Amino acid sequence: MPFADLGLSPELVQAVKAKGYDTPTPIQAQAIPSVLMMRDLIAIAQTGTGKTASFVLPMIDILAHGRRRAMMPRSLILEPTRELAAQVAENFEAYGKNHDLKMALLIGGVQMGDQVKALNEGVDVLIATPGRLMDLFERGKILLTGCDLLVIDEADRMLDMGFIPDIETICSKLPTTRQTLLFSATMPPPIKKLADKFLTNPKSIEV
Ligand code: AMP
Repeated sequence: MPFADLGLSPELVQAVKAKGYDTPTPIQAQAIPSVLMMRDLIAIAQTGTGKTASFVLPMIDILAHGRRRAMMPRSLILEPTRELAAQVAENFEAYGKNHDLKMALLIGGVQMGDQVKALNEGVDVLIATPGRLMDLFERGKILLTGCDLLVIDEADRMLDMGFIPDIETICSKLPTTRQTLLFSATMPPPIKKLADKFLTNPKSIEV
């Protein structure tokens, strides 16, 4: 199946072609149409399967419509490590080059000043590690009430790193009517429990 048949906008199909990809990977073919239909998603997929594009691409199309507001990000991608967050940000920039979307990367080890400035200017997508996000939230620098699209990436690594309580807190600050996408290489019981609590009628994919 070609990328053009997944329901993505022509600008996005163009951006994918510019990266040199002609054919969606299995997770992309299964996830993208369902995410575009605003369904929740549980995907059991390893790194290397093309999973990043399976959420970044439909997110760009969803976010292409709508308006930015100061301090109120419209979507949130949670990553367990700074490195993964930075990689997802690179993907977002490459695929989103034909779109006017603002992104902020909230990771530790970087001064907060620029992050706060970006938040104040309005952000479409926040790519964050749980620790720094919680820190900025507790300082009153972010409102999560406008964030109705959430990605929890590498959920099993989040579990290994002790981030599940933070994720539960973050989920409870987001609107209840939202779209939630959860990616994990494995599905241990605590992740299954998290999904049961915070996702609604998700489509399940295993690749
Ligand atoms: P990921 O699983 O998201 O870490 O992606 C693994 C690698 O596959 C990355 O280097 C991507 O740039 C690449 N990739 C993503 N989508 C495709 C595709 N449709 N065809 C070939 N490679 C891809």
